[in-house]
Amino acid sequence: MDLQLRDRAVLITGASSGIGLATARLLAQEGVRLALCARDEERLRAATADLAERTEIVTAACDVTDRADVESFVTEATARLGGLDGVVCNAGRSLMSTIDDTTDQQIRDEFELKIFGALHVVRAARPALAASDAGSVVIVNAILSRQPESRLAVTAAARAGLLNLSHSLAADLAADGIRVNSVLLGLVDTGQWQRRYAESGSPDDFTEWSAEIARDRGIAARRFGTAEELAFPITTLLSPRNSYTTGATLEVGGGVHRYV
Ligand code: NDP
Repeated sequence: MDLQLRDRAVLITGASSGIGLATARLLAQEGVRLALCARDEERLRAATADLAERTEIVTAACDVTDRADVESFVTEATARLGGLDGVVCNAGRSLMSTIDDTTDQQIRDEFELKIFGALHVVRAARPALAASDAGSVVIVNAILSRQPESRLAVTAAARAGLLNLSHSLAADLAADGIRVNSVLLGLVDTGQWQRRYAESGSPDDFTEWSAEIARDRGIAARRFGTAEELAFPITTLLSPRNSYTTGATLEVGGGVHRYV
């Protein structure tokens, strides 16, 4: 099936590893021209060097919590790619902590990352997306946004705010013909979890260690997802073929259901 993405321009935040990188790879295969950012530009360039053989790419160091940084990245991306058709707000991480062991500053930082990490990008990209005939935003969020966990208390609250905000953005940006959808993740084997595995000192290999966590969290598939398994739904939401899908939340969590 032709996803009608060839030669379109898509910007992805947090593209140097995990889900952002896997999405960049899949979009490059579809002939999409890409603007990619992360804070560590050297790591970003190394991770995406091979993509330049397939498609046109713009890479830049950009912290999504810094409005000026984001505006300058979006301006450069729009100029070099001749516009933007899609944005994937993916950059981020989780803060593993309970309310009791989180400082006020950590809480502020977490909300800053989740809310402004998407909002700065959407605001800066809005004129370019409005000029496209298929403007689309995909916000990478988590099932946690609907189901809090005490060990991720602050992240869960910030994600709930982001999910709520994504619905408002879908309603507001519809006037400009821009679709806004969220992909809610369960547990995905990426840099975040590889770091946690290394810190755990577990004698098990990663597959056994992560399968135990998946069982503990009630994931029907009994394993973590892969970044590639997230890249496909993100890509299809960007496709102009999904033209009537906006304000939607797509859960990709291996069959975890804690509510109906
Ligand atoms: P990775 O750690 O593999 O990748 C995160 C990417 O985001 C990196 O490119 C990182 O690069 C970048 N990044 C982090 N902070 C910033 C920032 N402030 N500004 C710009 N770039 C930033 O993580 P995942 O692929 O797992 O995560 C992707 C998204 O999915 C994140 O938002 C994460 O919170 C979310 N998620 C992941 C889950 C999982 O199980 N993996 C579960 C639920 C949600 P650099 O450090 O150089 O900036």
